[in-house]
Amino acid sequence: MVSQELLDILRCPADVRNGPDAGLLDLVNGAWLVCRDCGRKYPIKNDIPIMLIEEGDKYRNTPVEKLEAPQ
Ligand SMILES: [Zn+2]
Repeated sequence: MVSQELLDILRCPADVRNGPDAGLLDLVNGAWLVCRDCGRKYPIKNDIPIMLIEEGDKYRNTPVEKLEAPQ
């Protein structure tokens, strides 16, 4: 499980430069971090959030309800 302390400080790397409230993430299904600003979706693998823009891009256009468990 990813700690709440970590979740509280994580921001989307594509938006974080835009300010302290930019790039806020929502935890979905305990397995994805979804950016509120750009919609990129970062997978959590083995309890480690993969905060790479190229990873976030892969499921950017996938609706949240269609997300499957990260591979
Ligand atoms: Zn973002």
